[in-house]
Amino acid sequence: MWKLGEAAFAEVDTFAWVQRWQISRQWYVHNYRDRRFNALIACRLCTATGRGNAGKPCGECDGTGRVNLLEPPVRRPEQSSGGRP
Ligand SMILES: [Zn+2]
Repeated sequence: MWKLGEAAFAEVDTFAWVQRWQISRQWYVHNYRDRRFNALIACRLCTATGRGNAGKPCGECDGTGRVNLLEPPVRRPEQSSGGRP
């Protein structure tokens, strides 16, 4: 019985490990949590409303109201039009 449970969890645990989820085991209960949730915080610029000045989407969080600490908003540098053949 115990071995069967371990085998059943093994596949899920492997998947969770690949996804870099946080795994907490308590007896036969395994909890999975995406670490990225820990990185989400409320946007301070718009106080999590997602709205900036004049009703426009907030530029800091792109209108989502949340900022991901692991993946900060990508600010693409201005690309020159030259360089392409
Ligand atoms: Zn914002």
